[in-house]
Amino acid sequence: MARYTGPVCRLCRREGVKLYLKGERCLSPKCAIDRRATPPGQHGQGRRRTSEYGLQLREKQKARRFYGVMEKQFRAYYESANRRPGITGETLLQTLESRLDNVVYRLGFAASRPEARQLVRHGHFDVNGRRVNIPSYQMKPGDVIVVREKSRKHARIKELLEVAASHTVGPWLELDLENFTGKVVRVPAREEIDTPVSEQMIVEKYSR
Ligand code: SF4
Repeated sequence: MARYTGPVCRLCRREGVKLYLKGERCLSPKCAIDRRATPPGQHGQGRRRTSEYGLQLREKQKARRFYGVMEKQFRAYYESANRRPGITGETLLQTLESRLDNVVYRLGFAASRPEARQLVRHGHFDVNGRRVNIPSYQMKPGDVIVVREKSRKHARIKELLEVAASHTVGPWLELDLENFTGKVVRVPAREEIDTPVSEQMIVEKYSR
């Protein structure tokens, strides 16, 4: 599946929030949002009138960029959530949270979602004993993810695992750094997902 390859700090400036796409840099004074929080482009500092549709569109774009998903796949996630029982917006967020690249990031095995995506693509993880290199792979309750033995010697992964030691994971995940393992215990509840988006507005955008 395709991915966005353009400048990423620009995306944060467009959405007006930190999307945490650059790992350590996002927490440093070099973060573009901290230095220049206006939208990008020639008219970024102008006055903006935003319609209801515009607000819904921004929420959808923010969620998409947060999780690094392209429009076609995001719409497919929405349609699948809409077909399932329960609250569509909540199901949509739960589906996004259950992506393998997101779980890798949430476990602290990567400093950002784009980095998690790259590590998954490069085949550094096993899921339930089998190598999985698909970032959108849906993790289910009970699934176990392990850093592959060879990858544990990889300089960047070693560095990330050291940082992960001081990392707290959400209650829907379990981290066992001694065994280089993480586990999805259950589907996260809405209040356990800290992504700052209004899923209701996304649903309204697609239901037009
Ligand atoms: Fe966004 Fe990170 Fe760039 Fe800051 S440093 S603007 S949070 S990607």
